[in-house]
Amino acid sequence: MATARLTPAHGLVRPDKDRFLDEENPFEAMMSRFDKAAELLDLEPGMYKVLRKAEKQIIVSIPVMMDNGEVEVYEGYRVLYNTSRGPAKGGIRFDMQVTLEEVKALAAWMTWKCAVVNIPFGGAKGGVRCNPLEMSAAELEKLTRRYTSGIINVLGPDSDVPAPDVNTNERVMAWIMDTYSMHVGHTTTAVVTGKPVELGGSLGRREATGRGCMIVTKEALGHLGMQVRGTTVAVQGFGNVGSVAAQLLVGEGCKVVAIGDRSLSIHNAKGIDIDDAIAHVVKHKSLEGYAKGDRISGADLLTLEVDVLLPAALENVITTKNAAAIRAKVICEGANGPTTAAADSILDEKGVFVIPDILANAGGVTVSYFEWVQDRGGYFWPEELVNERLTTIMKRSFGDVLALSKEHRVNMRTAAYMLAISRVATVHRLRGIYA
Ligand code: GLU
Repeated sequence: MATARLTPAHGLVRPDKDRFLDEENPFEAMMSRFDKAAELLDLEPGMYKVLRKAEKQIIVSIPVMMDNGEVEVYEGYRVLYNTSRGPAKGGIRFDMQVTLEEVKALAAWMTWKCAVVNIPFGGAKGGVRCNPLEMSAAELEKLTRRYTSGIINVLGPDSDVPAPDVNTNERVMAWIMDTYSMHVGHTTTAVVTGKPVELGGSLGRREATGRGCMIVTKEALGHLGMQVRGTTVAVQGFGNVGSVAAQLLVGEGCKVVAIGDRSLSIHNAKGIDIDDAIAHVVKHKSLEGYAKGDRISGADLLTLEVDVLLPAALENVITTKNAAAIRAKVICEGANGPTTAAADSILDEKGVFVIPDILANAGGVTVSYFEWVQDRGGYFWPEELVNERLTTIMKRSFGDVLALSKEHRVNMRTAAYMLAISRVATVHRLRGIYA
């Protein structure tokens, strides 16, 4: 079973100030990409209006009796952005920076992400504004269960299926699954994904997002005529996504020359021993104190001269302030929304090949889909089969997006949005409007 206390899943915790410069409002970032793709698709005005809105937004107050006997009240959200293609799907994050606006953007991204990889889900996201790193396991369990109870009416294997995200893990998913099961009166494993394997989780789910990043990075290198062996990589964020992607890329022959998390970034031109760095993080909860390389700033990590940059932490790390200084040839967006919309054109002008988040990090939700299928069928797959099917879907999706980007002479991000929006619009047209 997982450890009682949470560790930061994606490696960074942001200070609660200076929230969103204009450029950094995540919903605006999503919308400006959406608008561009919608225009190229010549989307009809009614469809445009429908797809720009979230279907359902829930705000809940979450009172928790803290260990010191005092009551604290947290605010939580769950946004179901679009369910036309199937049950809403998307993670839940516990973070000081969670806002409704951010959750809405992340829910929209989940909608497009599920459509890009063509799995039968809509998009959702949830979040609770809290600092889980300062809370005990008992407080976190109470918070999780009360939040679950607050959104219970939308949850269900056929309606809305959460998963882990920033600062949540399989332990949190187990609490959600148990709370839901107690409410409905029977064990319902398919209500969440990213659960412990003993409880209906899928083999390969924990590594899936990082594995997906590795697969599409290799596809991109192949497309650009670059060798995988010896490719240099810098990874920002050393949680579940960054560390696994780094490990798997090294396994393919790449050289990871820089890694960083909220506590520390290091550079080592000879290549970093990723297994050793992961062992350090398992022991110390972060990279702090890891000294096998030259210490660099988090900002410098992003502008290193490497072949591949893999931002795998949080939103808004590549902005108009640093985009011109990026020297990587390929960016693989392991995080959701790491690049602001305004930075896109700067990267385009520089000829950087960006594998957009809604494609690059879709491996996680793809194996979530496999987990949901396995739970509903009550029949579990060996890890090799999970990985094989994930590889097939990631390669096919990369190929679909690349083909569209060539056809319309647009970058990979715009092509991914075009593919996603056209798939979602198609089911809306088929279903019509219920009145
Ligand atoms: N939180 C992950 C994401 O942003 C996974 C979502 C899921 O598996 O439902 O893609």
